[in-house]
Amino acid sequence: MPTLPIYPYDAQVLREETKDIGAPSGELTQLIVDMFTTMHAAKGIGLAANQVGAGQSLFVVDLSPMEGYEDSKPLVMINPEITDMWGDDIPIEEGCLSVPNVREEILRPEMLHIRYRDANFEAQELEADAFLARVIQHEYDHLQGIFFTDYLRGFRKRLVIPVLKKIKHGEADVDYAMAVDPVLVD
Ligand code: ZN
Repeated sequence: MPTLPIYPYDAQVLREETKDIGAPSGELTQLIVDMFTTMHAAKGIGLAANQVGAGQSLFVVDLSPMEGYEDSKPLVMINPEITDMWGDDIPIEEGCLSVPNVREEILRPEMLHIRYRDANFEAQELEADAFLARVIQHEYDHLQGIFFTDYLRGFRKRLVIPVLKKIKHGEADVDYAMAVDPVLVD
């Protein structure tokens, strides 16, 4: 089970909207397995397919390494669609394997409803709140080409821009493999 290199902030595949997956396949199953391996090795709790260079509408989540979430089951969400978000906007600190060493508090709604297909390509739906809702929102954004840092404004945005530039150019200090996007040339 190989680990896959993780694409950095602003890589083209991470700025494009991903495509729906039409049918289950052996390649899809392998991708899911490799995504879990990659995410666990990098100590992440969520990973979108385009973070490993696959422009497909799929992400995986596993909160079990987190304190208090040890019993939570890994989730595979294929062709997800958030149908509703509600509740107060709550601040939670986010990080991202594609944006290493950046952690920022982001406001998002507390609860959501999502429809998706699971690893067996069966239709599922889920109501999520709190931290799970947050991880789902973050990963779902990836599938639309959005990074959590896109929500930063003003002073906080200006502080993070030099760090994002370094990551983009492959100068991030990480202990997992990151891909080099040939498109990121400026
Ligand atoms: Zn992320």
